[in-house]
Amino acid sequence: MVEINPILCKSCGYCVRFCPKQVLSIGKTRNKRGFFYPELSDPDNCISCAVCATVCPEGAIELPGKGGENDG
Ligand code: SF4
Ligand code: SF4
Repeated sequence: MVEINPILCKSCGYCVRFCPKQVLSIGKTRNKRGFFYPELSDPDNCISCAVCATVCPEGAIELPGKGGENDG
């Protein structure tokens, strides 16, 4: 399952744009830096492809169950 760390997000929208399953959408809540961060609007559609984590320039998305490639 995708985990989003809101405080790191700068609301660039890459994760939303490149998710092949339209799982993510920019939410209506700002993080502490004033950026709207993404939410899992359709988590059941997620195929754990890790595209969102790969394209995020801020390292705000992780897939803890994906063999640790984004850990650390
Ligand atoms: S892991 Fe893939 S399918 Fe799941 S939210 Fe990220 S980009 Fe979308
Ligand atoms: S790619 Fe990263 S920084 Fe950009 S909107 Fe998604 S979580 Fe935020």
